[in-house]
Amino acid sequence: MATIEWRSPASEMAVRQFEIADEKLKLDKNVAGRLKRPDQALIVSVPTRMDDGRVHVFTGYRVQHNDVLGPFKGGIRYHPEVNLGEVSALAMWMTWKCSLVGLPLGGSKGGIACDPTTLSRNELQGMTRRYTAEILNFIGPEVDVPGPDMGTNEQVMAWVMDTYSQHKGYAVPEIVTGKPVDIGGTAGRKEATGRGVVYTVLEAAKLLSVDLSKSTAAIQGFGNVGSVVAKELASLGVKVVAVSDRTGGFYEKKGLPVETLLQHTTKNPGLEKCPFGERISNMELLELKCDILVPAALGMQITGGNAARLKCRILAEGANGPTTPEADEILRQKDIFVIPDILANAGGVIVSYFEWVQDLQNFFWTEDEVNKKLREILTRAFHEVLGMSQREKVDMRLAALMIGVNRVARAMLWRGLYA
Ligand code: NAD
Repeated sequence: MATIEWRSPASEMAVRQFEIADEKLKLDKNVAGRLKRPDQALIVSVPTRMDDGRVHVFTGYRVQHNDVLGPFKGGIRYHPEVNLGEVSALAMWMTWKCSLVGLPLGGSKGGIACDPTTLSRNELQGMTRRYTAEILNFIGPEVDVPGPDMGTNEQVMAWVMDTYSQHKGYAVPEIVTGKPVDIGGTAGRKEATGRGVVYTVLEAAKLLSVDLSKSTAAIQGFGNVGSVVAKELASLGVKVVAVSDRTGGFYEKKGLPVETLLQHTTKNPGLEKCPFGERISNMELLELKCDILVPAALGMQITGGNAARLKCRILAEGANGPTTPEADEILRQKDIFVIPDILANAGGVIVSYFEWVQDLQNFFWTEDEVNKKLREILTRAFHEVLGMSQREKVDMRLAALMIGVNRVARAMLWRGLYA
């Protein structure tokens, strides 16, 4: 981002992507200047009582990029590499994503620099509640609605909802999405991101005449997104030949037993003790020969350094920001069909939006209704992006960014500058 405060490899990548879109769109210069940086950012100290009695002070963030289309919306990430620049980049991508799929929402993101896998339930709860209390005046059902992201889950969202509600004095389920269904969550939210990735893969496969029942997939990350992608692809007859998590991965040419892996990871923290096939590293997984490659963990995994070695036909980005602009250039030359993050993983925010709407109306939908509406929105967005890509002779990422960015820029011009 333009000023030093936001600068990090992730934010520079997000701004570079924006500039590439701007070169095509030729946006109003004043609007473009404004969109390169977030509206607001908050850094908070999160003192947390650890099990040994010490108080450890974590650093938390909430960044709001742009709310011209509606309230800010964005997940909360718990990961050691969380920093202001990364959260700012993720907030910017949320703005384009919500705009691309036509949601009346803006883009934000939050997070705490921590390793949640080393925290006890008590510590995780204490940290989450204090973080929520620290950002309480920055968020709100009509202002900024958090949700889950890497390292957080429906239990963490339940603590966010409870802490906010305790401060208000009444239940406020609409403050957060990705909650358990028992306290105002929606059917189908947990599976939404992974399911959405697969809906977009289905469209890409039709377009490229790839027979899914004869195809193979490799998936990096076996958390909320990666595990659902594995399950859904396997149910379509795709052979999942490799999966990985933070402990590394496994490769089995004949296909891994997805159901067994899913059962294992519901009871254990990771894949490590579930050996099937050959042990491989996360980087090796990306370079495997397969039809569908799904990065579903960290950002900046596919770079100028390894993109030339990718051997997939379809790259479906479950993760946010897994591919750098240098890698995009190489993938284009290799004719790898990229379903960009702001399209492929938009299922999460789409169903989060459904959850927020249901909470505001106190009227809940069935899982079939949720999935049907999700598929309609994603399929329409896929073809809108494809149409733009064919008309403008640009790749799918640039087409998606052009649609997402342009809608936001138009809204800014309509609303004008408040001074
Ligand atoms: P998660 O915490 O449920 O799972 C993350 C997975 O990544 C785990 O399997 C973890 O072991 C693995 N991982 C962590 N560090 C790794 C490393 N260094 N190398 C390889 N694997 C590593 O998170 P999630 O919700 O599945 O999110 C995964 C990605 O999808 C993130 O980029 C996130 O921003 C994106 N995303 C998530 C949602 C959502 O609804 N949860 C929505 C849109 C995008």
